[in-house]
Amino acid sequence: MDEIFAALSETYRIYAPVKRGKFIRYGEVKSVEQVVWNEKSHFSPKEVFYPIVQTLLYFSENDVRESEVDDKPTIILLRPCDINGIHRLDTVFMENGGHADNYYQRLREKVKFFLMECPESFETCFCVSMGSNVTDDYSVALRVNDDGVFVEVKDETFAAVFGGEAACDFTPAFVTENKRKVNVPEITDRAMVKDIHALDMWREFDDNCIGCGGCNTVCITCSCFDTTDIIYNETSRDGERRRVWSSCMLNDYSTVAGGHNVRAKAGDRMRFKAMHKLYDYNARFGKGNMCVGCGRCDMRCPKDIHFSETIDKLAAAVENLKKGEN
Ligand code: SF4
Ligand code: SF4
Repeated sequence: MDEIFAALSETYRIYAPVKRGKFIRYGEVKSVEQVVWNEKSHFSPKEVFYPIVQTLLYFSENDVRESEVDDKPTIILLRPCDINGIHRLDTVFMENGGHADNYYQRLREKVKFFLMECPESFETCFCVSMGSNVTDDYSVALRVNDDGVFVEVKDETFAAVFGGEAACDFTPAFVTENKRKVNVPEITDRAMVKDIHALDMWREFDDNCIGCGGCNTVCITCSCFDTTDIIYNETSRDGERRRVWSSCMLNDYSTVAGGHNVRAKAGDRMRFKAMHKLYDYNARFGKGNMCVGCGRCDMRCPKDIHFSETIDKLAAAVENLKKGEN
């Protein structure tokens, strides 16, 4: 398999979950040994094609020059929930408002997916409840265990590089049950959204959530960013425009011109995030829930706030609203 990785590396950059200190996050790999196969990564693969900090363009007093990207295409080794999550990002960046975001598209279109079969459901996953446990959108699927490496090649581009190996009858299996299950709220109309706005459940986050934004940072479906112009020095008009990840859970994220913060309390921001993941995305695009149940935010929160529990609480509150309670 290392020889195959070496052959692929001539044409592609290969990214996979790797150990970085106590965390597992995405990095470039050259060998199978570097890849963490049997644990869930703490961070999602989105930073491979949607960098944390990205220079969009350079400017001087009279000129603007677009930034350039590396020509080498990319292979990402990733789980089914992440492939489904990337479909959500694709929708937000390329279908919202009728214009594709060029800076996202130019990196995203170079990516090929190599599916990592999940040996079993990991702690905190609830992909089955969110309908994100299965995908057929991959070029190659891999199962790696003590018996060896099993490969399904769907994309003919990769047939030659795997062609010298013994044929086997392999298709990946998908997790069909998680330990963690959630009830997804069925929010049927906009009138109910107003009632949800007023629910007491959001107030419990006002004191608990510290607004660190960690839950957004690890999320495969969070897409918010700030755009900042950097001037190289005080007397210069030369600089660059950067896109930097942001987070709807940060205290000042929703501060508008004049200084008013439209979601000043942490509970208001949690309501906004929950509704975006569980109602607004589907209301706008008709493509189901945004959250894919990867469970990374549940692992990441320093205050042990579990989004999966928030989904359950919201589902129960919505049922009560339908019965005329709350
Ligand atoms: S909200 Fe949490 S569980 Fe859902 S996709 Fe984002 S990180 Fe994963
Ligand atoms: S990780 Fe936890 S404490 Fe930090 S913003 Fe998210 S919910 Fe709040």
